Amino acid sequence: MTVLDRPAEFEGFGDVVADAQWADEVRRLAKERNATILAHNYQLPEIQDIADHVGDSLALSRIAADAAEGTIVFCGVHFMAETAKILSPAKTVLIPDQRAGCSLADSITADDLRAWKADYPDAVVVSYVNTTAAVKALTDICCTSSNAVEVVASIPADKTVLFCPDQFLGAHVRRMTGRDNLHIWAGECHVHAGINGDELADQARSHPDAELFVHPECGCATSALYLAGEGAVPDDRVKILSTGGMLDAARATTAKQVLVATEIGMLHQLRRAAPETEFLAVNDRASCPYMKMITPAALLRCLRDGADEVNVDEDVAAAARLSVQRMIGIGQPGGGE
Ligand code: SF4
Repeated sequence: MTVLDRPAEFEGFGDVVADAQWADEVRRLAKERNATILAHNYQLPEIQDIADHVGDSLALSRIAADAAEGTIVFCGVHFMAETAKILSPAKTVLIPDQRAGCSLADSITADDLRAWKADYPDAVVVSYVNTTAAVKALTDICCTSSNAVEVVASIPADKTVLFCPDQFLGAHVRRMTGRDNLHIWAGECHVHAGINGDELADQARSHPDAELFVHPECGCATSALYLAGEGAVPDDRVKILSTGGMLDAARATTAKQVLVATEIGMLHQLRRAAPETEFLAVNDRASCPYMKMITPAALLRCLRDGADEVNVDEDVAAAARLSVQRMIGIGQPGGGE
């Protein structure tokens, strides 16, 4: 694995390997801090294996809010830790490396959204959860990929809708709702660029008996969601699933091979759930470098030093909480674990 340029505070952790001693120390420090460790599905396998809970960003934020522990160690990217903080403002939320960003969340800033709203003052703003707290605070309703269509459908047909930041999810929503007063921000996740239509169709052709699982919870697979809907792969072989649904489908499948269109970290949980089935990545280069910044060394430093702490301004958090809570009330906002 590539060693990233680390800031000074990471010095002394360079030789950390995820062995039994590391695992013992992580568990000991987590107990000492009264911390629960949450890991997103796209984390490194060793981080997933040490975590108390593994799941998608929304499921993890709900677990964070319900946790008895006062400290949440969020092994994921920054906007996810912010969402956990928004939903549990009284808790300490730590991310092992605050530089773990998200190219999709970064594709729209609060200033961008303010300017866009000024062009459409009566519009309703719908934002995918992959956005910063500041963008969520300017949003009317957040959505996940699981309930994006229902969120938009819940808005009166004569209202203009601004949808951000994911252009593929936006195009999918426009197709499903038939809505022409839906404006879409041209943002994208760079990881999904590797999961393109040709690759998807080629893989489906060369594995004619394989099922295709698409987990669109993170922006990396929204292009696959869009392409599957365009007929790049026969309908009956495509399953668009939340994390929980994907794990259930993995346990239930009779297919010998399953093609998985998402970030490759998800393969770890699937292989654990169904060791008899062969899970193949549609694109084995679809790996999110931000997710992989949460290394064993970063987790150890986080627990030892109580860093990096994630804080969200109270007013921003209050406004953002409203848009997240509206999302939770509509449809099936996302898969639990
Ligand atoms: S996979 Fe894409 S959308 Fe998900 S965290 Fe990484 S950059 Fe963001």
